[in-house]
Amino acid sequence: MEDKARNILISEEEIRVKVREVGKQITKDYKEKKLYVLSLLRGSFIFTADLVRNIELDTTIGFMTTSSYGHSETSNGNIVVVNDVPDDLNGYDVLIVDDIVDTGITMDFVVGYVQSKGAASVKTCTLLDKPSRRKVEIAPDYCCFVIEDVFVVGYGLNYGDHYRNVPYVFNWK
Ligand code: 5GP
Repeated sequence: MEDKARNILISEEEIRVKVREVGKQITKDYKEKKLYVLSLLRGSFIFTADLVRNIELDTTIGFMTTSSYGHSETSNGNIVVVNDVPDDLNGYDVLIVDDIVDTGITMDFVVGYVQSKGAASVKTCTLLDKPSRRKVEIAPDYCCFVIEDVFVVGYGLNYGDHYRNVPYVFNWK
């Protein structure tokens, strides 16, 4: 695998500062609630690990994997649940955490899915938001960074089987 010269878009320090800020806000907003952090794999595993360490509340944490038919990089509208939520979400205030909201199709699907499981409330949190690519109307409740229409890699986000463990976000092209 070629290791390209990396054009860093968001540095480790920028991520650290912003994730702490968003974690603080979530701590405030969920004080009286029964928080369940639902992390979407694989892309959000690093973000989730950093985020939950900045939420100063008791929280249940679960993971779910979805997949989009036929295309590896973007969603095409056919989302399926590959690994289901391991808990009964009934009565929980669920915060869905993902790496990026691009077309919005994945997040929109998961919101509906979690609602159908009897959650008391459902909100969304994303590391990155690419609003210019939206195909469904959805705006994340918490977002660390809004970015342009560029393909980004690192901090959980992949290029094929690579780069998820890079500790910052860089521009692929
Ligand atoms: P959606 O189009 O459903 O909003 O996004 C679904 C998924 O596409 C994201 O969770 C992410 O895995 C992938 N994706 C979208 N944009 C990018 C990107 O710029 N880089 C990478 N690595 N994945 C992306």
